[in-house]
Amino acid sequence: MKVVVAEPTGLCFGVKRAIRTMEEALEEKGRVFCIGSPIHNPQEVQRLVDKGLVVVEDDDRIPPDEPVFVRAHGISPDVHQRLQDKGARIIDGTCPFVRKAQEMAGRLSREGYYLVVLGDENHPEIKGILGYVEGPYLVVSGKKDLRAIDKIDKIGIISQTTQQESTLKELVSEAVGSAREIKVSNTICRATVERQEAVRRLAYKVDGIVIIGGHNSANTGKLFRIAQESGTPALWVEQADQLDGRWLSGKGTIGIAAGASTPDWLIKQLQQAML
Ligand code: SF4
Repeated sequence: MKVVVAEPTGLCFGVKRAIRTMEEALEEKGRVFCIGSPIHNPQEVQRLVDKGLVVVEDDDRIPPDEPVFVRAHGISPDVHQRLQDKGARIIDGTCPFVRKAQEMAGRLSREGYYLVVLGDENHPEIKGILGYVEGPYLVVSGKKDLRAIDKIDKIGIISQTTQQESTLKELVSEAVGSAREIKVSNTICRATVERQEAVRRLAYKVDGIVIIGGHNSANTGKLFRIAQESGTPALWVEQADQLDGRWLSGKGTIGIAAGASTPDWLIKQLQQAML
């Protein structure tokens, strides 16, 4: 059986950087707290827990004077302040692309723009970004949500880093009819889009495609749906031992693609299991 791995695939720059920072902190401090799961991959989180990572639901649960890791999604200035107040030693793993979205949210709102944020209001990245807004705002999932606002003088638009560019373009065109002035900062990160395009390309060249990544990972789910939509048989596993031999049988070439939070070691294990 021939195995072809999508390119690019797996860990994005921001998650890779966050894991490296976290591992250095664990080596130095032995125990590091993190608010929420630092990465949407249960196997990688378990590996880090074994090294001393402690995942908590919210900052109330962190004892004073402890090292605290800020994950790639970032946190709001309020949470940052509360951590500082309790003497936390903050290790910042915020992705620079998320940092840019946070900065633009603050800048546009200070410049008097009504801020429209394309994204999922329940996502931690959006919660963090909203903490930087200093004026009125609206979180939208698409152009239809813009109808909730009356005509406005100035609209500023930014996006959650993982949104689709086509949705942002539609939103911007819709906003043209709602404001005298529009300022857009395209804060979408290409990593997610590139991984989706790689699955689309690969799916047409193989007899089956295996998507590897956490079942709690939204971007991995998206890759799986793209693979399914191509019509090529698709399987979603978290790790190699979930491979189904019957599914593999009779397929000459298998493609592998991984979500932006799937570490290389899980991809390698999967490749080896298919040899
Ligand atoms: S998907 Fe993009 S914005 Fe999000 S962590 Fe990765 S590199 Fe950063």
